[in-house]
Amino acid sequence: DASANQKKVQSDLAGATVAGEQDANLAENSLLNKLLRSELVNCTSDLEVLRQDPSSPLYSVKSFDALNLKPEILKGVYLMGFNAPSKIQETALPSLLAEPPQNMIAQSQSGTGKTAAFVLTMLSRVNTSLNHPQCLCVVPTFELALQIGHVVEQMSKCMTSLRIMYSVKGGHSVSRGQLIDAHIVIGTPGTTLDWSTKLKVFDLKKIRVFVLDEADIMMDIQGLRDQSIRLQRRLSKDNCQMLLFSATYNSPIMQFAQAVVPNPLVIRLKREEESLHNIKQYFIRCANLQEKFHALSNIYGAISIGQSMIFCHTRNTANWLAERMVKQGHAVGILHGELSVGERAVAIQRFRSAKEKVLITTNVSARGIDVAQVTIVVNFDLPVNKKGEAGCETYLHRIGRTGRFGNRGLAINMVDGPRSLATLQSIESHFGRCIQELDPNDIDQVE
Ligand code: ADP
Repeated sequence: DASANQKKVQSDLAGATVAGEQDANLAENSLLNKLLRSELVNCTSDLEVLRQDPSSPLYSVKSFDALNLKPEILKGVYLMGFNAPSKIQETALPSLLAEPPQNMIAQSQSGTGKTAAFVLTMLSRVNTSLNHPQCLCVVPTFELALQIGHVVEQMSKCMTSLRIMYSVKGGHSVSRGQLIDAHIVIGTPGTTLDWSTKLKVFDLKKIRVFVLDEADIMMDIQGLRDQSIRLQRRLSKDNCQMLLFSATYNSPIMQFAQAVVPNPLVIRLKREEESLHNIKQYFIRCANLQEKFHALSNIYGAISIGQSMIFCHTRNTANWLAERMVKQGHAVGILHGELSVGERAVAIQRFRSAKEKVLITTNVSARGIDVAQVTIVVNFDLPVNKKGEAGCETYLHRIGRTGRFGNRGLAINMVDGPRSLATLQSIESHFGRCIQELDPNDIDQVE
């Protein structure tokens, strides 16, 4: 059994391609969040605003009525069930819709209302009696383009004769020199460049609103950044409103943003801080995989557990563990990077609706997914980055999902040797919070 175990561990290590903090496929995760999200994310942190001329007034609105929208657009907004602007919309919308048009860089976490804000801007500025593209929105992938198109369709429900086209590989087909009559073009940077410069089906100089969405993801995908800059260079300098949106904020993104958006108003809504404040953290020493599983079984036998998430290093371990837990009678969901975005959405929704109370997952699926009701997080494997160092940020993301909204959370870490013990100690000193040792045969110590 021990040698079988050893083999298992080795094959796990060989298959450890999904490990590491960088491996999360950002575009897919973003799409997943859009598919799963049905309402605004509540954000209580303060809004930061940076502008060229700090003495110029900055307006904010508390209602959509106060924005002087065209009646058919206002009706569309209310039909979507929006009652009042979200926090970022309160400040962004008056500037987005003002005359003369202002450029903007806006950053806030996903789910805070950025898409709705720029779609509203595009709809307000488009003139449907002119039969050529006037608004251009570029995003990293085909699927994200379709998601935005879907929002445009919903919000423009009461606007007759608005036409959208998708400049994505496998989207609408166009032929060289044949001018298109859509009002809004949504696509990926590469195909959009082809359409405008090689095939010449529309004139970038006639674009009045240019939106670059998911800028942080653009940065991450080879080529998209440069294609976006090439597109932007061909727009009208004086007659096109340029807008850039990003869920994250760091200096490479801001450098890119400043290169693409001249003289912007910068609006930033800081992410809700995740903390380990409400969370009890423990660790258990195990000699091998079998002992880890044994300890896990003891935990599930000893304490009553609502929803729990178990994080594994690799897909192999995740599958192995799922099989064993199912044999013990648990209803288990599984989430890993080989699943399609649709399959992942189904797994998360089953877990959310408590059809399965245990969700076993690898790192790829760990980020940015909101499952509020998790009471226990188990690190079956501790998070490490590509260099094998402690993945403190990932640890916080994993554990931070318990203990929300004032609930007490519980985190249990499995340690199986000197390396993982060292990882645990780095995490402990990084956060300056004690992780207590737990005897796997005496789980009742857990408070
Ligand atoms: P982001 O682009 O920042 O991820 P979205 O614009 O997609 O955010 O908004 C997130 C969710 O909240 C969507 O389901 C959207 O329909 C909804 N939403 C956006 N703005 C409002 C609003 N003002 N009131 C209610 N719901 C809103």
